[in-house]
Amino acid sequence: MTQNKKIKSIAVLTSGGDSPGMNCAIRSVVRTALGRGIKVYGIKRGYLGLLESNFIEMNASSVGNIIQHGGTILQTSRCPEFHKSEVRAKAYKILQDKGVDALVVIGGNGSYNGGHLLSEEHGLPVVCLPGTIDNDIEGTDYSIGFDTAVQTAVDAVDKIRDTAHSHERTFIVEVMGRRSSAIALHVGVCTGAENIVFPSESLDIKQISSDIKRGIKRGKSSSIIICAEGNEPGLSYKIKEELLKDSGIDAHVCILGHIQRGGSPTSIDRFLASRMGHVAIEALLSGNYPIAASFVKGEVIPLDLSQCLGKKDEYLPHFTDLARALSI
Ligand code: ADP
Repeated sequence: MTQNKKIKSIAVLTSGGDSPGMNCAIRSVVRTALGRGIKVYGIKRGYLGLLESNFIEMNASSVGNIIQHGGTILQTSRCPEFHKSEVRAKAYKILQDKGVDALVVIGGNGSYNGGHLLSEEHGLPVVCLPGTIDNDIEGTDYSIGFDTAVQTAVDAVDKIRDTAHSHERTFIVEVMGRRSSAIALHVGVCTGAENIVFPSESLDIKQISSDIKRGIKRGKSSSIIICAEGNEPGLSYKIKEELLKDSGIDAHVCILGHIQRGGSPTSIDRFLASRMGHVAIEALLSGNYPIAASFVKGEVIPLDLSQCLGKKDEYLPHFTDLARALSI
């Protein structure tokens, strides 16, 4: 929707789980806005910092030498109180008192929902950028941090493959992604994994055993099973136990965990974040809000925020088929 409010001052925050590339996004937001004569505040520690009035004024140097670093210079947090409308009203008042005309939110689904409610309830101009390794935000083909997380996991699995091959072993490697299967699918395809297991599907241990045995028969010296963590890490131990019971295969477990969240962002994530920050500010200044900067068919475009609040998990069918076809 197009609106006419004159925006002279904005604030930017990062919220929820951190992701590599958030710093590039902050840099792009800050420098695009400064270049358009807008005053910019950074809010430290997400919505929690907003409620604590934790503002810092940003200039071009505030975002110097951060493009290559993972994490977020603004830091992040979870803030359960933000689910309450009276707490969001307090946040809006703090922004008003500070003279902030618009808010830029960099985060995942939860952070988008918080921003959307601020906009709905108080008419605050809000723009969101998808900062999450899970790649589960509706409306965007890719989120900032996903490519880096996949690359980190692929590097780790390649190393595990070396030892698995040398010792003729089966490894179960558990990757992050909460309820999203995107990381597992990409890592599975990119590492030539023999199986990919999703918590959302019932565990077919007979199928996994027979795939491993078929591989051994045709001369494979190792097998890698990629397992998506789901809500709680640890599914890989269940797979290990059942594999041993079913077919005597004694697999090793490796849970990659938080290493997938950190590290220097890939050029793909840096480029995406840089484009998204720029598009978000340009949209805001042309009165196009509330929106989410979204990557759609190769272009970064502003999409109505209300279209981007859901969780997507669209990769399952075609990428599962691809992984199966290539791992015979
Ligand atoms: P992410 O943004 O990475 O998905 P969370 O789901 O933890 O991470 O959300 C981050 C923060 O966004 C929460 O701690 C809370 O402050 C806010 N938030 C999440 N969901 C909502 C909601 N439905 N309403 C208001 N605020 C929300």
